[in-house]
Amino acid sequence: MLPERIRKALLFSRLVVYAGRVFFSVLWRSASAQIASLTEGTPNPPADPSGVKNVVVVGAAFAGYFAARILALSLPRDGRYRVVVVEPNTHFNFTWVLPRFCVVEGHEHKAFIPYSPAFFGKKVPAGMVRWVTDRVVSVGRESVELSGGERIPYEFLLIATGSAVTDGLPSRVGNERKAAGVELLRAMQARIKAAGHIVVAGGGAAGVEVATDAKHQYPDKTVTLVHSRQAVMHRFGPGLQTGAMEALERLGVRVVLGEKVVADSVDGKYITLVSGTKIECDCFINCTGQKPASGLIADLAPSSIAASGHIKVRPTLQIADESLPNVYVCGDVADTHDMNPNSRIAARQAEIAADNIVRAARGKAPTLEYKPRWGDGVIKLTLGLDRSMTHFWDGSSELLFRGKETDPALMCGGAWSALGVKPFDDTGVYSASA
Ligand SMILES: Cc1cc2nc3c(=O)[nH]c(=O)nc-3n(C[C@H](O)[C@H](O)[C@H](O)COP(=O)(O)OP(=O)(O)OC[C@H]3O[C@@H](n4cnc5c(N)ncnc54)[C@H](O)[C@@H]3O)c2cc1C
Repeated sequence: MLPERIRKALLFSRLVVYAGRVFFSVLWRSASAQIASLTEGTPNPPADPSGVKNVVVVGAAFAGYFAARILALSLPRDGRYRVVVVEPNTHFNFTWVLPRFCVVEGHEHKAFIPYSPAFFGKKVPAGMVRWVTDRVVSVGRESVELSGGERIPYEFLLIATGSAVTDGLPSRVGNERKAAGVELLRAMQARIKAAGHIVVAGGGAAGVEVATDAKHQYPDKTVTLVHSRQAVMHRFGPGLQTGAMEALERLGVRVVLGEKVVADSVDGKYITLVSGTKIECDCFINCTGQKPASGLIADLAPSSIAASGHIKVRPTLQIADESLPNVYVCGDVADTHDMNPNSRIAARQAEIAADNIVRAARGKAPTLEYKPRWGDGVIKLTLGLDRSMTHFWDGSSELLFRGKETDPALMCGGAWSALGVKPFDDTGVYSASA
């Protein structure tokens, strides 16, 4: 076994190589888009709409939205194809800031980034993207059906439905409209502010972040974090587990490990743990129970749903059902065995799935394969309102970088810019009325 210092140095050099590969892949994608737009000449708008083949993208977050952009830029520009994006949310829900905005007031609107044609860029032919604010309720072999009743035929289907929770915030918003989402965040802030005894269930990233933020903002309240495992952040390296625990203790959050909250035991005054222990609680925040949103294919391809609820895929990100070669899956809902699924992983899978669809549309075999990359599993965990820890881990060694945080909104303006819109100017171009 190599000494820890040498293992860290090796990991650091792998990190440099990883960063270089990411940089060159961004450069390569931008250069190939430029070359394609020059060599393929002026794009044609889609011909007669009835003859156009649809590439339907279900869900537009880190996986679906990014895949839709690549598809719109790279599908043949002869009018044969059109990208149809179906997404029920009126705005891109920026999950990263939800735990923070459950506590800190005045920034709620920043978590809702407008979907906009600007994200697709000026090189996308007119009419190439159809945006549908609705939910897919069933998937057949040739078409999808929306909750509004419309049936949309597809030549290729990309499922990017991510994951969902039953309790909404802080892990997901729990409402499709921005105005209602803003109100839900404000209601959570008010609940935390009015409480004396807050209990958070789940010691993953969302639980640790909301517990540390709440205790930092309101040091006089009791905050208890209940986690079923023997360490918080148990899916990450030991250094992050220790760092998170130290931060919780420093702020005065009480941590109860190896315990679970009994469902429905919240009575406004106490909650009960499976051991029978009662904890004073007038504000319960559930950060557990995130599940892959794979129900859509339960009838079409039931054997492709793994025990975990993820959709089984081939390395090409085609669904693991040979009779459905034109159905692709990417993001949190895909069963790709990543240690800690996150947005970077979702967006990289989106690239591979979209590139394979483009290959297939151009008559080539969809041969690009997704392989998990350790560097994509990086996490930046906030630990109260003024600090964070960034963690890289290859399964045996880890690198930790401690940071100071000065922006209560966690610099989320950068996400707005990355999605092609001016921070925090909500033009709502693709929105249903919010
Ligand atoms: C609180 C929290 C904080 C996080 N922080 C970070 C972070 O700091 N960094 C990081 O990299 N990752 C972070 N993550 C993880 C990251 O949010 C996910 O990995 C990422 O969102 C996955 O993207 P996705 O597109 O696969 O799925 P999702 O984000 O789950 O999006 C799925 C989309 O599909 C839509 N959809 C679902 N069903 C249907 C349907 N039937 N019809 C049409 N559309 C549908 C949904 O409305 C949604 O927009 C965080 C997650 C949480 C919960």
